[in-house]
Amino acid sequence: MNLAEYQQFTASTAIYPKDNALVYLSLGLTSEAGEVAGKIKKIIRDNVRNDEAIVSEIGDVFWYLCQLCTAMNVEAADVIEQNMNKLIDRQERNVIKGNGDNR
Ligand SMILES: [Mg+2]
Repeated sequence: MNLAEYQQFTASTAIYPKDNALVYLSLGLTSEAGEVAGKIKKIIRDNVRNDEAIVSEIGDVFWYLCQLCTAMNVEAADVIEQNMNKLIDRQERNVIKGNGDNR
């Protein structure tokens, strides 16, 4: 399965009010990212690492990312390519470290 196919699949399981899609999806994304962090936090607290649970939560993050892309009318693969190009440009200009969105 490629990313475009997965993005299309997420639509079949997207059950939420579409009139507030961006807000709903942003909250869902940050919630799932928090679940990833929570599983990793438990490595420190309990000294127990559950890779299966962490990967499952990363999958939930991907679902929300793909649905956010759909809500923004963009292909997830295009977003990734744009991000890669931005980072390659920063590497080539030796500004990969530092601050600012528009380096
Ligand atoms: Mg989850």
